[in-house]
Amino acid sequence: MTEEQIQKAVRQYLDEKGYDRMNLQAAMFDMDGVLFDSMRNHAHCWHETMAHFGMELPEWEAYMHEGRTGAGTINLVSLRDRGHEATEEEVRAIYRYKSELFNKCPKAERMPGAYELLVKVKESGVVPVVVTGSGQVSLLDRLNRNFPDVFRKELMVTAFDVKYGKPHPEPYLMGMDKYKKWVGDANKKLTPNHFVVVENAPLGVQAGVAAGVFTIAVNTGPLPDDALLSQGANLLFHSMQEFCDEREKVIGYLR
Ligand code: MG
Repeated sequence: MTEEQIQKAVRQYLDEKGYDRMNLQAAMFDMDGVLFDSMRNHAHCWHETMAHFGMELPEWEAYMHEGRTGAGTINLVSLRDRGHEATEEEVRAIYRYKSELFNKCPKAERMPGAYELLVKVKESGVVPVVVTGSGQVSLLDRLNRNFPDVFRKELMVTAFDVKYGKPHPEPYLMGMDKYKKWVGDANKKLTPNHFVVVENAPLGVQAGVAAGVFTIAVNTGPLPDDALLSQGANLLFHSMQEFCDEREKVIGYLR
């Protein structure tokens, strides 16, 4: 990516939102498909699970629904395939089946380039925040093991915090609130231009954009770039490694 492209994307964001300048303080990272190479497992398990319950959800389509709550995805497919939503009991059974299948999958690796990027981001003085729809109980342990000394418990938004989930802006609004609370933003000086979102999923990009935040898409899956750009992503990289390699330019223009 050229400096001109980055500069243009930032200019466009500032003009649209009416800010004078970026003033980056915290970077909000999605987890699945950004920090961990886990989306293949999720997509595979969704496909197998829905087939087990007599419904159809192709793996590629699972990437389109990434970020939705489990119930949201199940009801969408149920409505399409059976003409009605799933009962609460069905939702629980289907989601349990999917979770059990997922737990049997080989543990997803850290996304190449992600740790290096996070370390450099932190060194530059920008605070990393995690915003995920995931509700795995061992989440913090797993993050600390794979990204030592990068994240803090107070600066994490998970499935336990949110009501709506992506594409609703709520998770990212909550990420900003947690950061504001953490730094003690009593005078409410922090606005969305003090933040950035890093997302791999179309619905995640939608959520970041809806929260008014400059959103960087990282296309780590099988979808065309346009699936992310059409949701309003401000910049797009094709991998976390590429983003990591270009980080100095990007952070430079966002500060
Ligand atoms: Mg993701």
